[in-house]
This record gives sequence, structure tokens and C-alpha cells, in this order.
Amino acid sequence: MRKITAPILGVDIGGTKVEAGLVDASGRVLLSERSRIVARGSAEEGLKSVFAAIDALLRDPRAKKAKAVGISVPGWVDSNRGVVVNATNLPCWLNYPLAKKIERHYRLPVKLANDGNAASLAESAWGAGAGYKNIFYVTLGTGIGVGMILNGELFAGTTGAAGEGGHMSIDTRGPLCGCGKRGCIEVYASGTAVGRQARERASENPVAGSRMLAAARGAVDNITAEIVTEAADHGDPLASEILQSSADQLAIWLGGIIDLLEPEVIVIGGGFGRVMMRYAPRMREQLKVWSINPNRKRVKILNAHFRSQSALVGAAALWLAHSKK
Ligand SMILES: [Zn+2]
Repeated sequence: MRKITAPILGVDIGGTKVEAGLVDASGRVLLSERSRIVARGSAEEGLKSVFAAIDALLRDPRAKKAKAVGISVPGWVDSNRGVVVNATNLPCWLNYPLAKKIERHYRLPVKLANDGNAASLAESAWGAGAGYKNIFYVTLGTGIGVGMILNGELFAGTTGAAGEGGHMSIDTRGPLCGCGKRGCIEVYASGTAVGRQARERASENPVAGSRMLAAARGAVDNITAEIVTEAADHGDPLASEILQSSADQLAIWLGGIIDLLEPEVIVIGGGFGRVMMRYAPRMREQLKVWSINPNRKRVKILNAHFRSQSALVGAAALWLAHSKK
């Protein structure tokens, strides 16, 4: 097999958007383009959203130098076959041969991975996890994804389907999650969950929710995690309470993770991860209750280096890590 070198075309597929970027050998994103995804239509409509982002990128001559494509998807994938098995936030694809479709369209080799796994590779190679051997990576956004680097290697389970840490339940009587289980951490501490909680609370008590309702132009359905964050920044008590509660639920979950894996570092990424990192001191305080590991204080909690582009760079790392061997 011929050696693949940078730049690589990385594609991060999320529940609401697709971002394609050109990534160099040191993990830098040279240029990037986004498009909206039609996640709840047909498989072909979903695929066309991905083509739209890649086509936009390829308008730049620099992107035409890419020799391979790496794709990250939020859900279960079979990396060996390049198949999206099942992704809660991408119902358009079920056992869908995404890698093959993209390979045929662009005539470039394609690798596919779960977004959390891809992002943890990027953080490990060039980001906040560089220099550490045991990393627990978590991305907070539409959903919650994780990736585990153990003894310097990506740990993806027996078949590659491990890393669905967002669907670990912290309350058997909790709200129903899209995955079918109850009380998954994703229904408490993802950006989607925070938006939903704020809409429920503002409906119950429009006076307490008045700042968020005003930002949503009076329509409770328009309240998002961004509106909650902005209201909390202005000292809104209800918005602050919702974010603090999510941080407390995260601490319960992370306490279990620390007790299970004892990582050197926890790296928090994703668009909503930046918001939750403001509560890192509060989470650390709560970890006294939720972790029994005697070394828990030494576990660092760090902002992801790549922020919302971790999965994009990670998708490219699928090839660059390979070509290093
Ligand atoms: Zn779930």
C-alpha cells in the first residue's frame, strides 16, 4: 500500500452540520468549510450534505492536493468495512457504506471512525493530551462522545464499537434517551439536553425564564444552550442553576470514569465543552463525593486544544497516524 502523507481531507459529521477541512502533518487546519446536514431524511440526502461540504472545500486549489479522506461520525461504525452501523443523531444512515460512497465519488481512499475516538487521537497526537499515555477524552455538543487512549493506544473495544460513554446511565429513573435507555449522561449534560431543560423550566415558570425567553424573542421553543449560556453570563439565576446542575451530573459520571480507568488527564472538548469547563472547579469539588480513587486530585481536567475541530483533525489523524508506522 502506498504511503499517504499530509495534507489530508478531514470530515467531521455531526447531528446538525458537516465540516470538511484540510489538515497538515502537524494537525493544523489549513482551511475549512461547513454545510448543514439533512440528518433525518433519506440516506442519499445525508450523503449529499457531506458532498456539499467537501465540494465547497475543493473549490480551493490547495484542497486538491489531498490524497486521502478521513471521516468521523457520532455513533457506531465498523471501521474495517467503512460502514456507519447506527448513529442516534444521524437516523438517515443504518448499516450504510459511507466510506465506499465517498471513495467512489471522489476517487480517494477513505477511512471512517467514531468521532470521539477520532478526536481523542488528535488530542493525543498534537493537542492537550500530547505527552500523556492515559487520556480520557469527552466531547460535549449535540450529544456526548468519548475516546480512550490507554497506554498510548486508542482503545476501541473488541470490534471497534467501544467508547459510547455518553450512554452510560447515572439514573435508572431519569429521562428517556434517544438510544432507548434512561438517564444517560447525554440527557443531562449535552448542549441539546441543556436547551431542553431550559425550555421545560421556562415553560413552567415564564417569570424565572424571562431573560432566556426575551433572548428567544418570546418563543420558548427557540431557547438553546447558547441562550442559556449567555443568560448565565449575565447572572440569570435559572440559567446558572441549569448549567450548574449539568456540571454536577458530569461530576457523577467522571467520578465513575476516574475510578474505572484512572487516566492521567481528562480532556474536555466540543462546543458545549467550553461552557462546562467554566465549572471545572465545581466539578473537582464534587469529585470528592463521586470518586473513591486516592489519586483523583492528580487527574488533570483540561480544555481540548482543538476545541470544536477535534473530530475533524482526528479524522485526518486516522491517516497520518497510519503513515507514521
Ligand atoms: Zn443514551
